[in-house]
Amino acid sequence: MDILIKNIKQLVQVREESLKWVAGDDMANLPVLDNAFLYIENGKIADYGSMADLTINTAEEVIDATGRFVFPSFVDSHTHLVFAASREEEFVDKIKGLSYQEIAAKGGGILNSAKKLQATSEDELLERTLKRAWEIIGFGTGAVEIKSGYGLTLEDELKMLKVAKRVGELTPLTVKTTFLGAHAFPKEMSREDYIKLIKDEMIPAVAEQKLAEYIDAFCEQGFFTVEETEDIMEVGKRYGLIPKIHANQLSISGGVQVGVKTGALSVDHLEAMGEAEIKVLQGSEVMPTLLPGAAFYLGTSFPPARDMLNAGLPLALATDYNPGSAPCGKMAFMLSLACIKMKMTPEEAINAATINTAYAMDLSDSHGSITRGKVANVFITKEIPSYSFMPYSFGGDVIEEVVLNGKLVEKH
Ligand SMILES: [Zn+2]
Repeated sequence: MDILIKNIKQLVQVREESLKWVAGDDMANLPVLDNAFLYIENGKIADYGSMADLTINTAEEVIDATGRFVFPSFVDSHTHLVFAASREEEFVDKIKGLSYQEIAAKGGGILNSAKKLQATSEDELLERTLKRAWEIIGFGTGAVEIKSGYGLTLEDELKMLKVAKRVGELTPLTVKTTFLGAHAFPKEMSREDYIKLIKDEMIPAVAEQKLAEYIDAFCEQGFFTVEETEDIMEVGKRYGLIPKIHANQLSISGGVQVGVKTGALSVDHLEAMGEAEIKVLQGSEVMPTLLPGAAFYLGTSFPPARDMLNAGLPLALATDYNPGSAPCGKMAFMLSLACIKMKMTPEEAINAATINTAYAMDLSDSHGSITRGKVANVFITKEIPSYSFMPYSFGGDVIEEVVLNGKLVEKH
């Protein structure tokens, strides 16, 4: 199977060499190729270049992309894609002025999602999750990280991760999974007992059944403390799970420091950052990952992206797609929020949502840029004037065709 895409108005995020990430000032540089072709063979990016240098004249599929842009697929490195039900009743409560605590007291929040998930069979959960998976494919996402964390029992956490793995088998998405048992404390157990369950039963079972690559915890006031987070991460590491942490969403929680200390691949959220948090990330291997959909939905302050860029840090952008605080899986909208609310330029936002999120999923070598030998995950836009049009036209739909693993994806 081979595909030739020709007359591309602009081929975006072209990198001759695969690189780990882009950081600081370098994030302002987005390499493009005008009037280009892209040749895809056996699921991989085989070649690209200027139309003037095109020597291939046939392919099984030839796409004329006149007036259109080709991007590498988005990599969404932070989602809670597996959930049983949406929570728009809480949305309405929130509009009417109820606080987070009042909503939680009415049975809302993470525990609400847990109750619904526990009552849903694996197959039913899969069916509901697949709908969202095909939805995000249509939004241009080619690789996605999916977390557990609405199970909160051994059986239900495993169920969630099995569903997430099956999404990777049943769709063309590249899927990596994260065990997030430490998302909230279930009502029916003491704090100590639940942490013991996570460490003694859940982590060993997840590792034995090879259900996750990563381990996560919600390190936040009212949720998991720094000490508990560190303890859980260290146990996870002994079982081969790599830490990724929900850090500093609602407060300066110590989550960033514990992420660096435990060698996390990423620390995610970062709405609440001080100088110490920025400093500790400098020179580390941890990808700071911003989730502007959650700040937008909850009406909290946005992460100080410019301060982090000025400090020379890399930044990644993901959706946090979940039913409670970010019910949106559209990466293009995250680009808009990054530009409008965090003063990132379109170039910085696109780098953050492709090459840098690929790092946050351990996929820098295979995803996140137009590079020979990488997995052929790309999308073709409609006719648009420039790549900046995508974040500019917020909420719009500019993606026309999607190629994943070297095959055109049919619309679902
Ligand atoms: Zn999250």
